[in-house]
Amino acid sequence: MKVLVPVKRVVDYNVKIRVKADNSGVDLANVKMSMNPFDEISVEEAIRLKEAGKATEVVVVSIGPAQAAETIRTALAMGADRGILIKTDEDVQPLAVAKLLKAVVAEEAPGIVIVGKQAIDDDSNQTGQMLSALLGWGQATFASKIVIGDGSADVTREVDGGLETLTLKLPAIVTSDLRLNEPRYASLPNIMKAKKKPLAEKTPADYGVDVAPRLKTLKVEEPPKRSAGIKVPDVATLVAKLKTEAGVI
Ligand code: AMP
Repeated sequence: MKVLVPVKRVVDYNVKIRVKADNSGVDLANVKMSMNPFDEISVEEAIRLKEAGKATEVVVVSIGPAQAAETIRTALAMGADRGILIKTDEDVQPLAVAKLLKAVVAEEAPGIVIVGKQAIDDDSNQTGQMLSALLGWGQATFASKIVIGDGSADVTREVDGGLETLTLKLPAIVTSDLRLNEPRYASLPNIMKAKKKPLAEKTPADYGVDVAPRLKTLKVEEPPKRSAGIKVPDVATLVAKLKTEAGVI
């Protein structure tokens, strides 16, 4: 069984985001970019499936600018076998990503696609669900455990009330949540080896997909600044303030 893992290049999670002066978006100049953390978890899970003999090949795909090749190389250094870069400088929104992934699925015929539950830049949490709808495949979102069976997968999901386990007929879409696993670090020898692994380069036009944005961003703003705290002299004043000002009690 082949596993397909989409990996997105996003602003590193440690970076403090700066909004552009004209409020048109986030400033990406000289900002550290990395693989979306949920996609690292998906790559790790796919590699573990291969190590356990449940998968035969791990293919990663990224849609984005030329630099997204670095994100693919990171996945290859972790242990993925092969990469596909669908190169575009457009702002590719989840529907367009899902359409491109559908075309890649048609070519690659994976048994499972492990998508991140959300990209930390747009926080959309849409791509996996849209891909499932476009393909007519079953889906299990927010996975914290995946057990591959014979033609099926048992997926434990993190839901509000606790954990829910679903059985899905394969092929299927799974979206990874934080507690699925802890991704490994790529070792130096594996980083060197990854340079020689195959990385195909395509464009959206190769798949006949129009990636023109369907949504328009009107305005991006910083969150309101928190006002400074105050010190109260004693507990009685604190309780009074909680009652009258915070409405807590
Ligand atoms: P989103 O729906 O934008 O929150 O993204 C959810 C997941 O879809 C991500 O964690 C990735 O696995 C995948 N994805 C979204 N955009 C891209 C992209 N440009 N290239 C590859 N995968 C993507």
